[in-house]
Amino acid sequence: MKDIIYALVELQEIDNEVYKYVLQKEQLANTLNEMKDLVTRMEQSVEEKQAKLVDVERWYSEQQDTLKEYNDRMGRIKASLNAVTKTKDYLIRQKELENLRRHKQSKEDEIEKVKDTINDFRDAIERDLLRIEELRQDTEKEGGATWEQVHQLEETIAEISKSRDSILPRVPRNILGRYERIRDRRDGLAIVEARDGNCYGCFVSLRPQQYNQCLRFETLESCPICNRFLYAREQTVEEADHDGPAPAETA
Ligand SMILES: [Zn+2]
Repeated sequence: MKDIIYALVELQEIDNEVYKYVLQKEQLANTLNEMKDLVTRMEQSVEEKQAKLVDVERWYSEQQDTLKEYNDRMGRIKASLNAVTKTKDYLIRQKELENLRRHKQSKEDEIEKVKDTINDFRDAIERDLLRIEELRQDTEKEGGATWEQVHQLEETIAEISKSRDSILPRVPRNILGRYERIRDRRDGLAIVEARDGNCYGCFVSLRPQQYNQCLRFETLESCPICNRFLYAREQTVEEADHDGPAPAETA
């Protein structure tokens, strides 16, 4: 059993190394995805701005139509003034003209303000589009570099993984299966040290009987809490032998 336990420890050391590179690979992919997300979010935001601009421009052109209508009506009234003979009619038309002029003026003021807003809006959209293009190019460049790095990491991982092959025959199939399941579920850590009576995976105190089992290397022990395999270092046995309570009762 001791050889199986130490084969698992060696396997874990290799897998730790692999795990480190796998994490690096994931980080690279995450950074790239964050950049892509940013581009997507900016594209959505600029699309919303463009839609709003279309609305405001429509409003603007409607107001222009209203202005034109005011002008036409004022023109008609002015033209009719010559033909008016009664003073009362003349005054009524003058009043109408007055009112139309006032409406026209306030409409023009309103339109002027919106015109500035529209121009600011167009500038903002222009700037956003340039920024998006820059980001898109950056992301593309970054994507190429990332792909390169990922490829290198994969080669490194494959290289390191090769050294597992010599260890695998020392571990029975069912134990290897359990090892891999625990490793994949527990942050890459399947076998941990049992030291000073504790599991060094989740740091729970082990029952003394179980800790002694670990020191005997006769059985493959698992932590009752985190389920990881437990192993003791050989020197721990020697220290334990020196320090009093013997881990194993040898006749
Ligand atoms: Zn544990």
